[in-house]
Amino acid sequence: MAKIYHDSDADLGVLKGKKIAVIGFGSQGKAQSMCLRDSGLNVVVGLRKGGKSWDDAKKNGMKVAEIADAVTDADVVMVLLPDEVQGTVYKEEIEPNLKPGAAIDFAHGFSIVFGEIKPPKKADVIMMAPKSPGPMEREMFLQGFGVPALIAVEQNPSGEAKKIALALAKGLGATKAGVIETTFTEEATSDLFGEQAVLCGGVTALIEAGFDTLVKAGYQPEIAYFECLHEVKLIVDLIQKGGMMHMWTSVSNTAEYGGLSRRDRLITADTRKEMAKMLKEIQEGKFAKEWMKDAKSGMKKIQKMEDEEASSHIEVVGKEIRSLFEFQAPKKVKKTVAKKPVKKAAAKAKPKKPVAKPKVKKTVAKKPAAKRPAPKKK
Ligand code: NAD
Ligand code: MG
Repeated sequence: MAKIYHDSDADLGVLKGKKIAVIGFGSQGKAQSMCLRDSGLNVVVGLRKGGKSWDDAKKNGMKVAEIADAVTDADVVMVLLPDEVQGTVYKEEIEPNLKPGAAIDFAHGFSIVFGEIKPPKKADVIMMAPKSPGPMEREMFLQGFGVPALIAVEQNPSGEAKKIALALAKGLGATKAGVIETTFTEEATSDLFGEQAVLCGGVTALIEAGFDTLVKAGYQPEIAYFECLHEVKLIVDLIQKGGMMHMWTSVSNTAEYGGLSRRDRLITADTRKEMAKMLKEIQEGKFAKEWMKDAKSGMKKIQKMEDEEASSHIEVVGKEIRSLFEFQAPKKVKKTVAKKPVKKAAAKAKPKKPVAKPKVKKTVAKKPAAKRPAPKKK
């Protein structure tokens, strides 16, 4: 089991009297800079003058400076920019102004592990990665708690690197929840693998393949949407809350029998082999190379894939169906992956025919709790 660090393992004093430059004021930059400031630390936000975060940071009472000025004299530089721009901004604005001996902090290991950033030998290189989108981090902090985080040390010439990472985590409230130590490589590669194979790639591919199968067999797209997309959240909520057994014992016996007896026909030995190949491409840096090439040459590939997705049948049907739920629709979808510049894309596509109002049926019937022992709480 991993060691979990708490408040008593971390000392905010390590950062007292030090200047902390937070570069970027997006999801992570905004939450982290404001929490660290509210923990009594000396924080300046480094931004492009005239960029849209500049006014937002000012409005939130932050000290704001251009990136070069923020980095100058800073003891800790927190690089909270989108992964794909970190290399360029580091080279042009951070590196030339970095104080000798300053610590450089990241919220994701990508730039270091895949060579986008090569920090000087005399710099501490650390990671403090909250396991949450920024807005939730801030919310938990304001409630007097925090979200769990990972820390890692890549370079430690000062001998203080881990103490600094733990202090940053404490300033965010993360040590109240719990902090786990990892390495840059473990964090970066597992994070990419999770996004690709399970969370973003795997889940969407599964949903879309199921939807397409029903529609191709003549089912109404609206029915297919409910079955293959809408209900995913209900099931995932059960799994997230109490693990696989909580889900299996909450759905109907019919759902349980069907699911357990059929699922290995989907995720076959070949699928697992392909997953291992995806992991290897990540570990060998092939994925990062491919993505950085696209990011630095106008994002053409990502844009094309996004356009295709936006105009897919399930997206067109989904817009219509979700409007039925408008009274309870969440304000904004929170992204946990780095964002691309906003694009209008083909998302405006209209459904080809008016959709009939489908009956919302509940297929995930609860069965008596008696059948199995409830999942044990740890
Ligand atoms: P973001 O896209 O929300 O914010 C990026 C910030 O950088 C914005 O202030 C933006 O204005 C600024 N910026 C963008 N391009 C720039 C450029 N060329 N020059 C200067 N500034 C520029 O990013 P984020 O999601 O907060 O991600 C930051 C880091 O945190 C990444 O390493 C990411 O992997 C990591 N991370 C994110 C999350 C999350 O939930 N969003 C969670 C854990 C870790
Ligand atoms: Mg992740």
